[in-house]
Amino acid sequence: MNSDLLPRDWHPQRTIPAAAYVHIPFCAKKCGYCDFNAYSGYKDGTKSRYIDAICHEIITRGEGGAPLSSVFFGGGTPTQLPTAALVKIIDALRDTLGITPDAEVTLEANPNDVRLHDWNRLKDAGVNRVSFGVQSFNPSVLRMIDRTHAPEDAGTAIEIVRMAGIDNLSIDLMFGLPRQTLADWRRTLDHAFALNVPHLSIYGLILEENTPFWGRLQRGRMVLPGDVAQAAMLELAMDLSAKAGYDRYELSNYAKHGLQSRHNRVYWRNDPYWGFGAGAVGYDNVDRTTNVMRPSRYIDAMLGGNAISFEATETPDLAGSIGETLMLGLRLPEGVDLSEISNRYGVDMRAMFSDELAAGIGAGLLEMSGSALRLTRHGTMFANDAMMLFIA
Ligand code: SF4
Repeated sequence: MNSDLLPRDWHPQRTIPAAAYVHIPFCAKKCGYCDFNAYSGYKDGTKSRYIDAICHEIITRGEGGAPLSSVFFGGGTPTQLPTAALVKIIDALRDTLGITPDAEVTLEANPNDVRLHDWNRLKDAGVNRVSFGVQSFNPSVLRMIDRTHAPEDAGTAIEIVRMAGIDNLSIDLMFGLPRQTLADWRRTLDHAFALNVPHLSIYGLILEENTPFWGRLQRGRMVLPGDVAQAAMLELAMDLSAKAGYDRYELSNYAKHGLQSRHNRVYWRNDPYWGFGAGAVGYDNVDRTTNVMRPSRYIDAMLGGNAISFEATETPDLAGSIGETLMLGLRLPEGVDLSEISNRYGVDMRAMFSDELAAGIGAGLLEMSGSALRLTRHGTMFANDAMMLFIA
């Protein structure tokens, strides 16, 4: 990067978000591979205080905000909260910020929690998209990764939610799991296609050092598919999903009938969003903030009358903001429009990144079409290498 070309007087404007992420940190059981801000074992009383805390945060921080066009309940497992609690949080968002009539409101759900909920009531409250954490349809793989649901729970859950008239459904699947073979992965993909949901999120397992699985791997007590096998699993997912009618509209996301996740596009375009709840990240075009992680500390801060409980605030400089925008945008098949980014930041992108562009294109990771820069198919297999070119 030629940083001499960066303007010295860059003053980004804070922007009121039109999207909100709501973090529900509770899970029935902590999965051995998970490094999310998620916990098992919290009692109902604490969960109830958490709901009050999150409503307090929404009401105090959200005052003067703008109506939301997307809301995403993630976790953790949002469906660990009762229906009434989820409705209460949506009502707090609607009363404080407003929710546009055509907003996308997504709830992440564990397949075996679904029958505990009143989906008609959730739909009336505004929920119109459900994302199921399925991961695999192989019972022994599910047990191995500590999931609490059975393969058949996914089909039942989808049926229940569809009966309430919610059809915009997604399934999360994972490859590169312990004992997973290519044949087993193909069966999982085929099972998912047969359920005919319009959206799939497909991720490779990435183990972080603070997880129990990492320790097991280091001690030789766990064997994972190697790099070649994982690449074959990704290629299989790409090929079979295309044959089944899904567009790969982001590195890990596939949609039919244009039913892409509107909320995730906010992240990939590096647009602003609220983050409510313990450990939730928010971005206002200037600061990226992270709320305190521990639910108990978050509850104490909020119910103690605080308006904010940030554990960290990061203010990316111009080079960092440009790098993030490029990195996130390259996740999309259309890539990034270098002219648009040049205008957005007042920098000539082709001149600033001339060496990196030449290196990425020369290595077959990137390609240019007009002012659009995107990953090649080879580049999608080595996306991190391509993206690291643009990180200062
Ligand atoms: S259900 Fe999801 S969030 Fe909860 S522990 Fe498992 S992977 Fe993590």
